[in-house]
Amino acid sequence: MRPRKIEKRLDPEYLTPIYRMALLQFEQAADKLALDPNVRKRFTDPKRAIMVNIPIRMDDHSVEVFHGYRVQHDTTLGPSKGGIRYHPDVNLGEVSALAMWMTWKCALMGLPFGGAKGGIRCDPHALSRNELQRLTRRYTAEMIQFIGPEIDVPAPDVGTNEQIMAWMMDTYSQFRGYSTPGIVTGKPIRIGGSLGRTEATGRGVVYCIMEAMLHLNMQAEGKRAVIQGFGNVGANAAAILHKEGIKVIAVSDVKSGLYNSNGLDIPALRKHLENNHFVESFPEGDRVTNAELLELPCDVLVPAALSEQITKENAERISCTILAEAANGPTTPAADEILRARGIFLVPDVLANAGGVTVSYFEWVQGLQNLFWTEEEVNNRLEKIIKKAFQSVLALSLSEQVDMRLAALMLSIQKITEAKKARGLFP
Ligand code: NAD
Repeated sequence: MRPRKIEKRLDPEYLTPIYRMALLQFEQAADKLALDPNVRKRFTDPKRAIMVNIPIRMDDHSVEVFHGYRVQHDTTLGPSKGGIRYHPDVNLGEVSALAMWMTWKCALMGLPFGGAKGGIRCDPHALSRNELQRLTRRYTAEMIQFIGPEIDVPAPDVGTNEQIMAWMMDTYSQFRGYSTPGIVTGKPIRIGGSLGRTEATGRGVVYCIMEAMLHLNMQAEGKRAVIQGFGNVGANAAAILHKEGIKVIAVSDVKSGLYNSNGLDIPALRKHLENNHFVESFPEGDRVTNAELLELPCDVLVPAALSEQITKENAERISCTILAEAANGPTTPAADEILRARGIFLVPDVLANAGGVTVSYFEWVQGLQNLFWTEEEVNNRLEKIIKKAFQSVLALSLSEQVDMRLAALMLSIQKITEAKKARGLFP
């Protein structure tokens, strides 16, 4: 990737391939907008980055120390918002890139939030439930001054779930001395979670796919989808696509993939996974590797696992009409160029997976009002917001002759820039 002058100002810790990727995407949109250089500088570095060491007593009584991060990229539009990731590859650069993408995503959806992200470098599958609980509570305690319903609101991401959010909420509430549900979103329903939150990211991905099909004059019925990653986002997207009559012909997880050209029985697979960890134990379908899965001919490809999956190495062999980025950062800028030249219709991550943060916003609002909505209300509001955002991105993409990613980033950056100008610079 072309080195940029701006990188010289950055702390080397940030400069992982994924942060370079987020910066390059930002630079392309900033160039296209001829963004004021003073504003440009303010977007390049995160507003605040916190790194903590988290000592935990393990079940065998030894002490292990884990690295934890929280990065708040921008707070111009409101408190910052973003998930917490538990994964062995978590580092400052990755969390910072994810925080920047959250800034663009919240602005694009018109939510009153800035962007943040957090994480702990750990393998959650190698920790017991008690170890995970101690790790989560100590991480929350270390971050206590920097998070809050009006400051920065965490949510689930890879390797975390509603149980982790419940422990975070409880720890924060113990410190404050009163119950504070608004500290996190993606909580269990019984402690103030929103109906529809668990499925929201996958649902948003499907709304975007349907809009893309409408634009491309494609009938949904009988079309073939391939999904990489069968966790919260991938499995929910698969289930909703299956209901819409789209054949999900392949899915995968960290270990391996399953393929059936006639379509997999997604409800049966989900049922099977209630008692099994990995898709490989499902008796139906042929085995494929993750690399093979990405190259299967299909109508819709949905990467729903990790970043940097579609690169210049495999972009020529990707064989889909629509690429809907459910994961954050699954396509590198070099791959973007190849896909664009090949006419693949891209729905970028900041749009495709924004259903999660949108319903997180609904959860936060419902919590503040202590007034809870029905699942139908949640889904209807989500549908309106996602479809409206999709149409604005599409309109700009067509009028400016740029791809959907560049159009989405241009819209977001423009909105926050206007807000920054209105607020001025303190002091
Ligand atoms: P998850 O932990 O529930 O599931 C992740 C899935 O990906 C699992 O099936 C896992 O086995 C698989 N996986 C992990 N490493 C893999 C690899 N190297 N190759 C193939 N598969 C692999 O996580 P999730 O919440 O579903 O998040 C998935 C993606 O969606 C992430 O990029 C996340 O940032 C993004 N996202 C999540 C949400 C949300 O609401 N959970 C919102 C927006 C974006």
